[in-house]
Amino acid sequence: MADSAVQMAAISIQKGHRTCAIRGHTLSTTGVYIRPRTLREALAALSAGEARILSGGTDFYPSLGERVVEDAVVDVSGVAELRGVGVDGEFFRIGGLTRWSEIIRAPLPRCFDTLKSAAREVGSVQIQNRGTVAGNLCNASPAADGVPPLVALDAEVELASASSMRRMKLENFIVGNRKTERRADEILTAVLVPRGLDDAMSAFLKLGARRYLVISIAMVAAIVAVDGDGRISVARIAVGSCAAVARRLRTLEGALIGADVREGFDQLVKSEHLSLLSPINDVRATAEYRMDAARTLVQRALKACVSSSQMAA
Ligand SMILES: Cc1cc2nc3c(=O)[nH]c(=O)nc-3n(C[C@H](O)[C@H](O)[C@H](O)COP(=O)(O)OP(=O)(O)OC[C@H]3O[C@@H](n4cnc5c(N)ncnc54)[C@H](O)[C@@H]3O)c2cc1C
Repeated sequence: MADSAVQMAAISIQKGHRTCAIRGHTLSTTGVYIRPRTLREALAALSAGEARILSGGTDFYPSLGERVVEDAVVDVSGVAELRGVGVDGEFFRIGGLTRWSEIIRAPLPRCFDTLKSAAREVGSVQIQNRGTVAGNLCNASPAADGVPPLVALDAEVELASASSMRRMKLENFIVGNRKTERRADEILTAVLVPRGLDDAMSAFLKLGARRYLVISIAMVAAIVAVDGDGRISVARIAVGSCAAVARRLRTLEGALIGADVREGFDQLVKSEHLSLLSPINDVRATAEYRMDAARTLVQRALKACVSSSQMAA
């Protein structure tokens, strides 16, 4: 199937300064660049040999530093079928190649406000117009703004290869700093968010050393649903930039259930609830400062959710 798909596709390959159309080419040669138009062609190209995936390029190119691209490259940015947001049965489906500016504009329910706020924090408008959701997740930076909201939303990732399709929780997909469970021949085709919390309130807060174009010191995504008696019925909290991967604070989530939102959260959020975090000292902040900031951001994010729920009531 893979070979025939490559054969069928008149794939444009640029090598060095020459551009030519080659059928049935394999990716064994370094410096090969392929820009397929369909997912089928992209998967066939990846199955033909080792190659790096290029999407918006906003992490790909900076990661090269002074080096030139030596690997074979499959540029998936022309695969239109992987862009856009919609409903797929019990899930919201976000195409892997959906750009951050498209997330901001998409008509999504309130529980996605956390993701939309994070999208507005990704670099600048120019970066949001180019950078994709899949690129953010597959790059797997501990400071990736898209990860805490999607972890809080309990998102799954869909991974396709020429021979298989599989899904897994985003929490299990990112396994370390710049490490994921993606196999070399797989493309992250979509992010799936279970429905059911559509009307829950959500917030995203990011602390950096300046207001714009900043890598976070700590960030928090929170989703809260409140029942008719003013008590919390659902709480989801994920913290980023304070461990190699974003962490859900499940003990705190459990402790918040039934809490009366009129009594506030300052006493409810305790240090032990953040014990899963393992922040580092680096140029942006000390570990101690990060921990303190994370706790404050959690309290503020919960307050932001509750005040938006009171405004909506
Ligand atoms: C100036 C600047 C500021 C930035 N600021 C922020 C910020 O504030 N917050 C933040 O989170 N990020 C920031 N970024 C990083 C970047 O913009 C985002 O992570 C963006 O979402 C990456 O998407 P991309 O499509 O450009 O990925 P690419 O650069 O194309 O790819 C990134 C990685 O993902 C892989 N990949 C891409 N698509 C797929 C796919 N569909 N399937 C499998 N693998 C894939 C690539 O092989 C590569 O390893 C910034 C970048 C720049 C240059």
